[in-house]
Amino acid sequence: MSANSVALAYLGAAILFILALKGLSSPVSARRGNVFGMVGMAIAVLTTLTITHNVTYILLAIAAGGVIGAVVARRIQMTAMPELVAAMHSLVGLAAVLIAMSAFNNPVAYGIALPGEALHFSNRIELFIGTFVGAITFTGSIIAFGKLSGKLGSKPLHFGGQHWVNLLLGVVMIGFGIAFCITPSWTPFLIMTLIALLLGVLLIMPIGGADMPVVVSMLNSYSGWAAAGIGFTLNNNMLIIAGSLVGSSGAILSYIMCKAMNRAFFNVILGGFGGGEGAAADTGGVQKTYRSGSAEDAAFMMGNADSVIIVPGYGLAVARAQHAINEMSKMLTEKGVKVRYAIHPVAGRMPGHMNVLLAEAEVPYEQVVEMDEINNEFADTDVVLVIGANDVVNPAAKTDPHSPIFGMPILEAHKARTILVVKRSMAAGYAGLDNDLFYMDKTMMVFGDARKVVDEIIKAIT
Ligand code: NDP
Repeated sequence: MSANSVALAYLGAAILFILALKGLSSPVSARRGNVFGMVGMAIAVLTTLTITHNVTYILLAIAAGGVIGAVVARRIQMTAMPELVAAMHSLVGLAAVLIAMSAFNNPVAYGIALPGEALHFSNRIELFIGTFVGAITFTGSIIAFGKLSGKLGSKPLHFGGQHWVNLLLGVVMIGFGIAFCITPSWTPFLIMTLIALLLGVLLIMPIGGADMPVVVSMLNSYSGWAAAGIGFTLNNNMLIIAGSLVGSSGAILSYIMCKAMNRAFFNVILGGFGGGEGAAADTGGVQKTYRSGSAEDAAFMMGNADSVIIVPGYGLAVARAQHAINEMSKMLTEKGVKVRYAIHPVAGRMPGHMNVLLAEAEVPYEQVVEMDEINNEFADTDVVLVIGANDVVNPAAKTDPHSPIFGMPILEAHKARTILVVKRSMAAGYAGLDNDLFYMDKTMMVFGDARKVVDEIIKAIT
């Protein structure tokens, strides 16, 4: 292909990537967005094949990666998606480091130096940046994967003076990077890479489980910038554009998540929050009383209500109760009950988790309402069914200035006339906090696995 045709094809792919991101911003257009992304990627890969040597190796790598990716994607549970994403990012980071090493080893083959000519200064800077960002992404993502999959403890791991050690290592790493830029040789390059690998571990270890999805999104952003850095080295516009799109969208997503969880970004990076999931809620030593009832009671209350708002959370995903809940809401709608779903931006374990689940169950989009829109309506609602959610409806976020989640926006379920809460026990949610909503006079706990309880409610409605 001529240089102009390649540039044109890359431009087309870049436009498709932008359309893909736009499409993914709403459940209605997400499928179309995915198609744009796939077509864009196919164009980018095919175009790159026309300008590369060793096409056989590349095709073999694509086949091997494609098979592994397809098998993993089919097997993965939706709740394990964040750890899969973390594992994928580690590969992007590793690829950036390996490409940089290979380009430094043989710059002529990469077209960034003529035979006998020294590597250009700007290329050295690009290699340095691409390598250290890639190395931090690689080991940082492995730690994030370990924490999210439970292979490493999710508790924050600190040691005295850690921030100073990190700072010192960062300065030494940059020092060796500068040394490499001045005199390009393997010693400073490798020392700089090793320190960056260590930094990836040290930066992510102190971050607690509750902040891990923000970290994954941040590492996603890093992996994009690492790819963009390598794109400069390889003079590949497609890699620069795609890397920048991933880098900036990851950064924006991290910001949105921090805002929805009321966490300052630097606070997340400096670590130390969360990790108490499944732990008994700390009630401050006070024996509090709550009311519990059966699925039949819940069916009776919802069947006789004018309006019901369903608040889904992480437990709905774990129990895979999305299809059952859709069936239940169809039955209530047929009885003349107005049913809607209230979506909190960080309900579940990844952004958009609830939207994805409800879309999978084919819940009509008009029933799915975002937090800002529905919060005014709880006070006029007869019954709220909180199903497998906890932190996102914890009133302490509004009333208790000492709560770690104080200031986090919540779904104001506590304002409804009657509140039904489906969960297996009184255990805490992700943030490890007790929830006063469960002890209100107008609240009824319905204990059990979300799927089982909804099946029982369905039987009781008919
Ligand atoms: P929570 O983690 O607060 O609560 C989920 C509840 O589901 C638990 O209390 C648990 O109680 C219950 N549960 C678990 N399994 C089942 C089951 N099989 N059947 C019924 N109930 C079950 O979830 P939320 O969705 O309310 O809040 C999300 C939390 O995750 C927030 O703290 C948020 O900040 C955090 N987070 C979310 C991110 C995102 O992007 N979505 C990113 C980072 C953090 P029990 O054990 O008693 O059943």
